[in-house]
Amino acid sequence: MFKTILVAYDGSDHAIKALQTAAKLASTFDADLHVSHTPQVDTPTVVVGPFISAVETPPTQEQIAEAGKHVIGQAESIAREAGRPIKQSHLGRGTPAQHTLSDAENINADIIVMGRRGLGALKSFALGSVSQAVTHGSKCAVLTVS
Ligand code: ATP
Ligand code: MG
Repeated sequence: MFKTILVAYDGSDHAIKALQTAAKLASTFDADLHVSHTPQVDTPTVVVGPFISAVETPPTQEQIAEAGKHVIGQAESIAREAGRPIKQSHLGRGTPAQHTLSDAENINADIIVMGRRGLGALKSFALGSVSQAVTHGSKCAVLTVS
């Protein structure tokens, strides 16, 4: 039923839970597990965490990409610990929802798994803007994990 599963991962607790759920789903269906992460400048504690003390000026694209690789490395460890290593990781640039959707189409994903909320979870909306946009735009199933 699910042969290719894509997890949208931003490093938040919600995304960790989504990744663990996706790893279980992938084990159950013997599916390939992919992760997509698009580093953002406005999520400094996670995304540019490794650089925050070193840079006083805004981070360069290279630093952002480097921080993104760090976040993807965390996702790969979490998936390994959950017993289902990631087959392929996708590092995006720009808008997270757009990248998630184009990654899903490129790998022909059967389902996208993501957190209902992410790093901005203190706001009072039910769904975060990325999960909303992905749910609206996706051609495949979407599972939002609470
Ligand atoms: P908002 O960003 O609108 O302030 P939020 O951070 O609480 O709200 P979202 O950003 O929509 O909520 O996060 C929901 C889920 O979307 C996350 O748990 C994660 O699965 C995915 N996601 C969010 N940002 C990214 C990103 N930069 N790269 C990949 N996936 C992301
Ligand atoms: Mg967010």
